[in-house]
Amino acid sequence: MSEKTVALVTGANRGIGLEVCRQLAQRGITVLLGSRDLRKGEQAASTLARAGGEIYARQLDVADEDSIRALAQWAEAELGHIDILVNNAAIFYDTWQHASHADLAIVQAAFDTNTLGAWRMCRSFLPLLRRSGGARIVNVSSGAGALGDLSGATPAYAISKVALNALTIMLAAELRGSGILVNAVCPGWVATEMGGAGGRPVSEGAAGVVWAATLPSGGPSGGFFRDGRPIAW
Ligand code: NAP
Repeated sequence: MSEKTVALVTGANRGIGLEVCRQLAQRGITVLLGSRDLRKGEQAASTLARAGGEIYARQLDVADEDSIRALAQWAEAELGHIDILVNNAAIFYDTWQHASHADLAIVQAAFDTNTLGAWRMCRSFLPLLRRSGGARIVNVSSGAGALGDLSGATPAYAISKVALNALTIMLAAELRGSGILVNAVCPGWVATEMGGAGGRPVSEGAAGVVWAATLPSGGPSGGFFRDGRPIAW
């Protein structure tokens, strides 16, 4: 079994996921950069070559059970454990619709990637995470999924993040005492393809994710954070 600290980041070929990989690698952590298009992942990994640490692109589509299973089997054979799982991949910030007339196919697709994608990842990788000295699961969520702030806007995205937050609470409760800390993190409004222009720098949004991914033992679990500070569900 590898002695290295190993992190797996989903949807990491661009945006916040890519920057999370860079910041984790800078800390000497071995990073598996998950990308549903392996070629894009390899290109992205090559841009991080100077970050230090080791970064390996791996094919990973969180909406595809076979893709997840293949990576889990590879990690089991080659590494024997995973220490950090960052469920970052997401789609459909659906600013063009409201709840009253939402296209439910879009809602279903958002739920499949944003919620069930993270859930599939946790199910498949928990055996490997349990073999870590103290694993961390970070579900990259959004203030758009905070119950107190809900409006009819971005319905597919918002409800997928509400459910992701619920999954976070459930897993954290179930895994309490296991040494595995599970938290949801909102990166804030970040200037990426999803966030668009005007948001904060990607490095700032990613830093809050990396904070939760590298919590010391005894750190919080079952919380919702932005920039390392609790926020309301
Ligand atoms: P982004 O630039 O749109 O990047 C999303 C990433 O997810 C891409 O790498 C994309 O891959 C990948 N992805 C989508 N579906 C996937 C699938 N089925 N399997 C694997 N990867 C998949 O988004 P971002 O702004 O970096 O967002 C990252 C996270 O932060 C998301 O969870 C998002 O909800 C959250 N967030 C972002 C903001 C913001 O302002 N940007 C605010 C709050 C929360 P492709 O390149 O193949 O499409």
